[in-house]
Amino acid sequence: MTVSDCVVFGGGPAGCAAAIRLRQRAQADVLLVDRAAPAGRYQIGESAAPAVVPLLAELGLRQDLAELGHLPCYGNRSIWGGDAVNEQDFLFKGQGFGWHLDRATFDRQLRDQARECGVKFLDGLQLQRLGWLPKRQCWGLELSDELGGKRQLLTRSLVDATGNRALIAQRMGATRRRLDTLMAVAVLTKLPGGLDNLSLIEATEHGWWYAADIPGQRQVIAFMTDADILKQQELAECGQFSEQARRSELLPSLLADLTDGSELFVYPAHSAYLDRVSGPGWLALGNAAMSLDPLTASGIHCALQDGIRGADALLSYLDGDSSGLVGYAQATDQALRHYLSERLAYYRLEQRWPQATFWQRRHQPTT
Ligand SMILES: Cc1cc2nc3c(=O)[nH]c(=O)nc-3n(C[C@H](O)[C@H](O)[C@H](O)COP(=O)(O)OP(=O)(O)OC[C@H]3O[C@@H](n4cnc5c(N)ncnc54)[C@H](O)[C@@H]3O)c2cc1C
Repeated sequence: MTVSDCVVFGGGPAGCAAAIRLRQRAQADVLLVDRAAPAGRYQIGESAAPAVVPLLAELGLRQDLAELGHLPCYGNRSIWGGDAVNEQDFLFKGQGFGWHLDRATFDRQLRDQARECGVKFLDGLQLQRLGWLPKRQCWGLELSDELGGKRQLLTRSLVDATGNRALIAQRMGATRRRLDTLMAVAVLTKLPGGLDNLSLIEATEHGWWYAADIPGQRQVIAFMTDADILKQQELAECGQFSEQARRSELLPSLLADLTDGSELFVYPAHSAYLDRVSGPGWLALGNAAMSLDPLTASGIHCALQDGIRGADALLSYLDGDSSGLVGYAQATDQALRHYLSERLAYYRLEQRWPQATFWQRRHQPTT
């Protein structure tokens, strides 16, 4: 049986970026195991910061994202920390503009790019067993398909890019620590006018709203709050959701299309991190390593960046130098500290509801 250089688990932005980079820099023999996204469910996570574009170019995705079917996003309109409406234009910050992606299409485009680079995809397989084979100095994997058929693989290294599952890292004994219970409830609407290519963000007593245009003259409207508050306020019910949205300042004009029969989608959106993101012959990337509050709108950027940096660290490991994996873990630790202080500072800007549970929780530093 041949021994591949790397098996990547997870075909989201992090896994694709790593696989593409491993091919581009070293023509490594890379297999990618992905699990199909649930059919009919809106894939959330559509705002791409301006900083995503140079990373995509680095990965060889040189086409203009508009040509690939995505919409430019020029900035944010927000009500946060006071009653005034603020507009922040990306262009005035000298960053270029961001994007509102059709997220399912975007992820598919990344997978296509990986295929073109020579990454071999193994779809529909589930990891059953995993172990280090000392005599062969490689990992042995057993995977199974839906019909119970078995497939065995040997590989010199493993990448965990399975998002919140952190499948490989947890098999390696790492622990994923959740920092909150944030959830998102989202609905899609169809308004021809749109939102002026801006993202809307508005803080309210029980959490915060987010809305954005998405390709197809549609909009996504989402509310972020903690799991218990979501339940108490019955926000996963369309009636309550639209009632609360109607009380906001920025959203009422978007609700014309919303009916009692509109489908609501609920997603976990908590922050979390792994206590160990790498070890000999493996590393975790993107959400698997650390999941960020959607308020940052930087999950895609971090996933792509982790993919690129993680692949570079893995290539050094495959050349016999483990220091890259240690450096990768240190950089992730620093990124976590930076994220936690930024998250705290941003939530502390909002002091209008000192008695509200959602904000009291957000104003406490993470220990
Ligand atoms: C409500 C919400 C809103 C968000 N909004 C934004 C936003 O506006 N902008 C932004 O930048 N980010 C946003 N994010 C975050 C962003 O979506 C993630 O950070 C990003 O998708 C992480 O990429 P990833 O590749 O690490 O993981 P994922 O995108 O989660 O990909 C993981 C992949 O692993 C696969 N997988 C899972 N288990 C297995 C398994 N056992 N075997 C094989 N494959 C497996 C999955 O099918 C998937 O393809 C948002 C997140 C949430 C929850």
